[in-house]
Amino acid sequence: MAASRNVFLKGWQSCMKWLDVAAQMLVGLFWAPHAYLIFFVTARCNARCSFCFYWEEIENSSKRKELSLEEIAQLAKKLKHLLYLSIGGGEPFLRADLADLVGLFYRHCRTRFVNITTNGLQPERTAALVERMLVENPHLNLKLSISLDALGEKHDQLRKVPGNFKKILETHHRLCQLRERHRFFGLNIATTFSKFNEDEIEELIDFVDEKLDVNDHTLTFIRGEAKDRQALDASIGKYKKAISYLDIKHRPDKLVFQLLHNVLRLMFKINIDTLEQDRMIVPCVAGGKMITLDDQGVVKPCEMLQQIHHSDRFNIGDVRTADYDIPAVMKTLKAREVRAWIKDTKCHCTFECANMANVVFNTRSWPRVVAEFFRKREVPVTQGLKPSSGSTVSAGMKGSGVRGEDQVPAEHATVR
Ligand code: SF4
Ligand code: SF4
Repeated sequence: MAASRNVFLKGWQSCMKWLDVAAQMLVGLFWAPHAYLIFFVTARCNARCSFCFYWEEIENSSKRKELSLEEIAQLAKKLKHLLYLSIGGGEPFLRADLADLVGLFYRHCRTRFVNITTNGLQPERTAALVERMLVENPHLNLKLSISLDALGEKHDQLRKVPGNFKKILETHHRLCQLRERHRFFGLNIATTFSKFNEDEIEELIDFVDEKLDVNDHTLTFIRGEAKDRQALDASIGKYKKAISYLDIKHRPDKLVFQLLHNVLRLMFKINIDTLEQDRMIVPCVAGGKMITLDDQGVVKPCEMLQQIHHSDRFNIGDVRTADYDIPAVMKTLKAREVRAWIKDTKCHCTFECANMANVVFNTRSWPRVVAEFFRKREVPVTQGLKPSSGSTVSAGMKGSGVRGEDQVPAEHATVR
């Protein structure tokens, strides 16, 4: 009797959870003006990656200048609804209050989808904070993306941290244990494709596929103001082959991850088309459905425009001088002007998060997502990625992959 009551209770809770998640999705997709927030919660970092686009902020970072938990509580209360929170940095897990921060969005904005990107350097602390997030926010779908760009010492060299690769394996191991206890927790490997690793990507994809137990693996094309600009000379041809290879090797097992993976497949396609055709493929939702907030409270449409144009003229406002009211900031004349500029110039780039949002929040893209589900995986023309006759990044797109009104030679891009 007690056993059947427990089964019923569990089923009921699961049902309630999915109803809640579905309701928040509908609100986020069709009603909320801003459904996707990219939040750089800190500029501090314990790595010094050669290809990092955020390196200047990291060099000048200060814990004192960061938005405090109290300030974040104020802005979360005024934001009211947020479907998806993507947390980056710096290294987010350097914030000891990261679990509390996630809880604020979960409670005040009913955020049910959170992604956190980490360099994996703090296995114990990461596992402890992630467990708190999962226990304290029972309807949360949490995904952790661990950055991995090469194997063994090569990864350590790229990240300028001896032993980083080993730490990643430990972080992965601890998080896999957590995943056994929490169904709504997913693990992703995030690889930045650059000049430095373009010839070793196949081995890396094999390693992730065979040795790591992750729900997804993503390859992001280098972009932004990389510290070592050589990183930007990546080959589009090799990237294209790497994406095809990844597509064949990696197929998520669970249906929910398969669906998400098809959004990713379409996003990769859009990225490649953007790189090859140097034009807008899908209108960008940055500054509308998608907004970005930095660690000191500055609201921007995306992380890219400032990098590309070497200017803060696209910054929309500062929550500290706007009573922590993001919706009010997004209604100002400045916000309208920035949105109009993005639309009028048919702004385009290869920023994966933006292209994902462009697919998700554009109902006209949805039939293409379904089509991706049935699209046959294509074997890359050349087995192996090395002998690429593929083009290198064209001068105009080099690095940033962004073009706008000024036709700025896009030299720079981001990672994470
Ligand atoms: S790429 Fe990420 S981990 Fe590397 S220095 Fe930049 S913020 Fe830190
Ligand atoms: S296309 Fe890229 S650079 Fe332009 S607004 Fe969108 S995310 Fe920003």
